[in-house]
Amino acid sequence: MAILEIVKHPDDVLRRKAEPVRKVNAAIRRTLDDMAETMYAAHGVGLAGNQVGLLRRLVVIDVGDGLLQLINPEIVRRSDEIVEDTEGCLSIPGWQGDVPRNRQVQMRATLPNGRVAWFDAEDLFARAIQHEIDHLDGVLFLDRASKVYEVTAESKAEDAEEAGQAEDAEVSPVMPAAPREG
Ligand code: ZN
Repeated sequence: MAILEIVKHPDDVLRRKAEPVRKVNAAIRRTLDDMAETMYAAHGVGLAGNQVGLLRRLVVIDVGDGLLQLINPEIVRRSDEIVEDTEGCLSIPGWQGDVPRNRQVQMRATLPNGRVAWFDAEDLFARAIQHEIDHLDGVLFLDRASKVYEVTAESKAEDAEEAGQAEDAEVSPVMPAAPREG
């Protein structure tokens, strides 16, 4: 495995649309492993292909419930309920924003073993999915934020305090043999 260089805003690759992966092979799996290592080294909860200069629809996510390596992830359903919360981005260091997102989403993605999986996500997990799939479409949290601000030592301390509170994000990956909806 290798730690990859994370592309920083305003690099053009962050504004381009990533291409679907047609064949899941050893090279794709290796890339996903490198992306995971890169995400953990940077203490992030998600990383998309564009962020390592790769215009392929690849995402890694770990919101504290284990690593997910996703190929061609797609949101197939969104809740009407919108919640606003703070987001940052490994490609936009030093900045955060208040970003409205759907509270729940259902996602379909191919896994490194080639099987298709469905995920019902809410709260932090749903937010991470939306943030990362946005990256694949060249969209940054800056585009959706109601407010963007520079991170200060003070706000970092507040975040640490919040992170100490109980996580309420429920992650429930479901992997039925057939799609749950048509
Ligand atoms: Zn990001």
